[in-house]
Amino acid sequence: MPEKTTSARRRAQELRAALDEANYRYYVLDAPTISDAEYDALLRELQTLEREHPELATPDSPTQRVGAPPLQAFPPFQHRHQMSSLGNAFSEEELRAFDARARKLAGRGDFVYAVELKIDGLAVALHYRDGVFERGGTRGDGHTGEEITANLRTVRSIPLRLRGEVPPFVEVRGEIYLKLSDFERINAQRANAGEPVFANPRNAAAGAVRQLDSSITARRPLSFWTYQLAGSEPELAIASQVAALQQCAAWGLPVNPNVRRIDDIEGVIEFCNQWEGRREELDYEIDGVVIKVDDLALQGEMGSAGREPRWAVAYKFKPREAYTKLLDITVQVGRTGALTPVAILEPVVVGGVTVRNATLHNEEEIARKDVHVGDVVIVRRAGDVIPEVVGPVKERRSGKLAPLYKVPARCPVCHAAVDRPEGEVVYRCTNASCPAQLKERIRHFCGRGAMDIEGIGEQLASQLVDSGLVHDIADIFALTGERLAALERMGTKSAQNIIDERERAQERPLWRLLNGLSIRFVGSQNAQILADAFGELTELENASVERLTAVPGIGPKIGQSVWLFFQQPQNRKLLQRLQATGVRTSQPRRAMQAAAGVAGKTFVLTGMLPHLTREEAGAKIVEAGGKVTGSVSKKTDYVVAGEEAGSKLTKAQELGIAVIDEAALLELLGSSGAGA
Ligand code: NAD
Repeated sequence: MPEKTTSARRRAQELRAALDEANYRYYVLDAPTISDAEYDALLRELQTLEREHPELATPDSPTQRVGAPPLQAFPPFQHRHQMSSLGNAFSEEELRAFDARARKLAGRGDFVYAVELKIDGLAVALHYRDGVFERGGTRGDGHTGEEITANLRTVRSIPLRLRGEVPPFVEVRGEIYLKLSDFERINAQRANAGEPVFANPRNAAAGAVRQLDSSITARRPLSFWTYQLAGSEPELAIASQVAALQQCAAWGLPVNPNVRRIDDIEGVIEFCNQWEGRREELDYEIDGVVIKVDDLALQGEMGSAGREPRWAVAYKFKPREAYTKLLDITVQVGRTGALTPVAILEPVVVGGVTVRNATLHNEEEIARKDVHVGDVVIVRRAGDVIPEVVGPVKERRSGKLAPLYKVPARCPVCHAAVDRPEGEVVYRCTNASCPAQLKERIRHFCGRGAMDIEGIGEQLASQLVDSGLVHDIADIFALTGERLAALERMGTKSAQNIIDERERAQERPLWRLLNGLSIRFVGSQNAQILADAFGELTELENASVERLTAVPGIGPKIGQSVWLFFQQPQNRKLLQRLQATGVRTSQPRRAMQAAAGVAGKTFVLTGMLPHLTREEAGAKIVEAGGKVTGSVSKKTDYVVAGEEAGSKLTKAQELGIAVIDEAALLELLGSSGAGA
C-alpha cells in the first residue's frame, strides 16, 4: 500500500474516533467537550480525506450518519422518512458555490429560496393523529430516535390539538429550544442552589427534553419552532416550503416569523449578514440561517447525498463560543481602583476576533464557576460585550489542579493595601494616586464617550504616566509636540496629530468634559443632564446637594457623589488648571422640557421602533427628565418595545413592568408625532 494512503487511513481512523466520541458527548450526554468549530473542522477534514481517497469511506463513518444512536432508556421512535442533517456554508463564497450547484442540479435558475433562521436547539418530530398530538421523538441517528412524548407534552408551545381542518395524520418537525431569558433564570437558580450551571441554552434544552422523569422537563420551560411539514395522510396539495409553514401556523403550531422568500443568492447573503449582526435582539439563540429551495417538487427531484439534502444548506455564523486554555489569572486595576481578575488565555478566535483576555468578574465568581489556572475553559463573546469565561470543561482536566485564585492583598501596581467594603464583592486599591488608576482615568478622559482625543489609547496613556509626563488629566493639555515625539515608538508626525486632535477636543461640549472626570455614577447620560441643567462648570462646582438633586433624573446617590467630588481640594485645583488651559467649560443651558409622565422615571428600550432610533428615543427621554438604563429590573418603570424585542421584553412581562410602544412613549413625552 502506498505510504500516502497508509497515513491517510490512519488519520481517517483518528478523525472517526474523535468524531464518534464528540457525537456521543454532544448528542447522548448533552455535555460536549470540544467546541462546535473544532467539531466542524474535524468533520470537514474527514470529508476531504474520504473524497480524495474514496476507498477509505466506510458506511458507518460520521460523514455518512447524523447524530448518534438513540439511548436504550427510551422506547425507539422510528422515523417515517430519514431526518437528515444539513450541509454547512461558512462564507459568502461557499453560499455562492451552493447556489451554483443547486442551479446546475435543477437545470434552471428561476427558483426561489425559503430563508429561515437556524435555531440552536435540537430537532424533534411530532405526529398528530386526527389533529391530536400522538407521539414525538428525537432525531437520533436519523432513522431511529428516542420516543419522548411525555416530555414533549410539557412544552407549552407544542399544541396538544391542532386547529381548523386537519388531515387524519400529520408529521411536523422543528426545533426545541430554551429562551435566553428562561436559560438565565434557570442558571441563576442553579447557581443559588450550588448546582452546576449549564454552559449554553442548547445543552440545557437537550438535557431537559431527554429526561426520564418528565416532571424534570416540565420545570425547564422549553419552547418550540416548527420548520418543516414532513408529511400528511392524505398528502396535501402544498407547493412550497413557505406555504407549508403558513399551513402549520394556521393549525396553531409556532412558526418563526423571520422567514423570507428570496430569489437570488446575493439577497440571501444580505439576509445572512443582517441576522448575524442582529442576533442579540432575539430572546433565543440562532447559530446561522437555513437556505432551502422553496419549491417542494424541485426539492424531491434534487434529493439528498448521504446525510444531507442537496436542496438546502446551513449558513453558520461565526461561533460565539470557543474552548481554550486558561494560562493564568492576573488582576486589572480600574479607574476607580476596582480590582478585576482577568483570564489570560491561549489566543482563540471567537465571533471573528482573536481573544487573549477575558473578564472573570470577581473572586466569588471564580469560586462559583470553579475555574482553575490550567483548565480548558469555554469562552463566550456576544456582540460587543467583553469576552467572558463561562466555565471549565472539567472532563478535560488532567494532573494536579491548581489552587483556586485569590485576589492579592496588595495592589499589584502600587502595592497599597487592598480593601473590600462590607457587602460588596469588589476589592479596591486604597491609594487614590495609584498609577494604574491614573492610566485608566486618562484613557477614559481621552476616550470616545468623553473628550475623544484620538491617538491617546491604553498604550500611550500608560507611556505618558510611566515617563512622568502626565500626573493628572490637566497635564494632557500641557503636552508639547516635542515631548510627545521623544517617547518610544512615537514619530514627529503622530505626535503632531495628537496635538491637533487635542486642540479640537478643547472645543467639545461641557458634558464630555464632565463624563471624562470619572466622577462616580456620572457616565455620559448623567453628564448630559448635569451640563444641560447647569450650563457652567463653576455653577456645578458650587451647587449644593439639594440643588443637584432638584434636577430631574439626578437622584440622591448621584447628587451626593457629584457634590463630594467638587468638595475635594485636589479636584478643585485640577479643574482650575483645566480651565486655564482653555478647555471649554460651558455650554448653552437647556431648560429641560420636563414631561410629567417621564421625569424621574426609568426606561429600558428594546427592539426596533418604527420611527425613532433607540438613541433618539433615549435622548428625548433624558431631555424630558427620565432615565434610560440597559437592563430590566424591579426599578424599571417602562419598557419601550419595538419590533423583534428580545429578552428584555420577556423579563419585563415576567416582572409585571409596563410595556409601551413608540406611540405611547411620544404621548408620555407630550409630543404627538415622531418628528416632534
Ligand atoms: P446542523 O446543526 O449543522 O444542521 C441541522 C439541524 O439544524 C437540523 O437537524 C435542525 O435541528 C436544525 N435547524 C434549526 N433551524 C432549522 C430550520 N429553520 N430548518 C431546518 N433545520 C433547522 O447539523 P446537526 O447534524 O444537527 O449538528 C451538527 C452540528 O452540531 C455540528 O456542525 C456542530 O456544530 C454541532 N456538534 C457539536 C459537537 C461538539 O462536540 N461540540 C458534536 C456534534 C455536533
